Amino acid sequence: MFSEGFFKGLVVNYFMEDCIFCKIASEEITSYKVYENDGFFAFLDVNPRNRGHTLVVPKEHIRWVWDVEDIGGYMEVCRKIAMAMKKAFDTEYIACAVLGEDVPHAHIHLIPRFPKDGHGGAIKFNLIKSFTDGEMKEFATLISQNIKK
Ligand SMILES: [Zn+2]
Repeated sequence: MFSEGFFKGLVVNYFMEDCIFCKIASEEITSYKVYENDGFFAFLDVNPRNRGHTLVVPKEHIRWVWDVEDIGGYMEVCRKIAMAMKKAFDTEYIACAVLGEDVPHAHIHLIPRFPKDGHGGAIKFNLIKSFTDGEMKEFATLISQNIKK
């Protein structure tokens, strides 16, 4: 007989193998990396809704943001990045969103807002901006350089 834990382990492994955010966080897949510490990893969204649009994920495969045990540490990382974005892009307004539908690995969106950025009162998630590889690298560098260690 197999224990319930055995099957849970199988399910977790099955999803992790195919999880793109697990692969990004372990740097198996390269990304426009912004920041990492022991528990969390931040990188640019490849479907940016504005310049600098960043996703912050736990390194561990966790489905929902609210299941991240160190939620305080998670928020500290988000705050650190948001503060760096304010400097990097000279804006006061950093939008934050938890949606969770697109990839089944907890992630928080941090999106710098600008006057007349086309989004209006709320982020239009179907409004995807286009930036060159060089621009994306520049955004990631700008944010990471402004992060307080
Ligand atoms: Zn994952």
